[in-house]
Amino acid sequence: MNILLLGPQGSGKGTQARLLVEKYKFFYFESGGFLRETASKNEELRKSLAAGQLVPDSEMASYVESYLDEKGQYDNIIFDGFPRTLTQYKTLKNWLEDKNVKIDLVIILKIDRQTTIKRLSSRRIDLQSGKIYNLITDPPPTGVDQTKLVQREDDKPDAIEKRLAWYDSLVLPLIDVLRNETKVIEINGERSIEEIQKDLITEIDKLK
Ligand code: AMP
Repeated sequence: MNILLLGPQGSGKGTQARLLVEKYKFFYFESGGFLRETASKNEELRKSLAAGQLVPDSEMASYVESYLDEKGQYDNIIFDGFPRTLTQYKTLKNWLEDKNVKIDLVIILKIDRQTTIKRLSSRRIDLQSGKIYNLITDPPPTGVDQTKLVQREDDKPDAIEKRLAWYDSLVLPLIDVLRNETKVIEINGERSIEEIQKDLITEIDKLK
C-alpha cells in the first residue's frame, strides 16, 4: 500500500508519519529531509533551498525516482512533501504504474492558517540529536538543553508566508485532481497526536 500524506506545513505530517512507520513498517519518504540531506553534497541545491525555492518538477522527479530505485522501494511507502504539484503527481503515478503499484490512499491533515503560523513559528530542532520539537504541542522533555534548540530558516515569518502561498496555489489544485482518482480522506489535524493517529490507523486498517 502506498500513501500520500498532504497538509499545510506544520499540520503534523512528520509526527504522524513516523508513528505509522513504527506501527506498519512503512518506508518513509520525506521530501524536505531528503532534499536537505542531498543538498549537503550538492552546492547548487543547497543554495536553492536556502533561497526558499521549490526544486523544479523534472529535477525533483528524477531525484525521487533514482533514490527509490537505489533503495528498490516501490510499495509500502508513505510520501510526505512529494508530490507537491500536479506535474510531480503525474510523473509519480506513471512511474508507480510501471512497477504495477499505485497510490492507495491520500490523507489530508487539515489545520487552519492561524494554527499553521503558530505551529511553524514554535517549531525547534535539537542540533545535537536531530529531534524536532514544538514549543506548544510537543515541547522538549526536561533535561534537553533549550539553548541547543534552533529554528529552521524557512520557519521564519516571511518564509512561512511563501510556503503557505505554494500550498494554496499548487497543492490545493492537486487535491482536487486526487479526489477523482483515488481514495482521499480528510482528518482534523487540530487535535492531539494520539487522537489523529487513532483515526489514521482506523482508515489504514480498512484498506489492509
Ligand atoms: P519541507 O521540509 O517539506 O518544507 O521542504 C523543505 C524545502 O524543500 C521546500 O521549501 C522546498 O524548497 C523543497 N521541497 C520539498 N519538497 C519539494 C517538492 N515536492 N518539490 C519541490 N521542492 C520541494
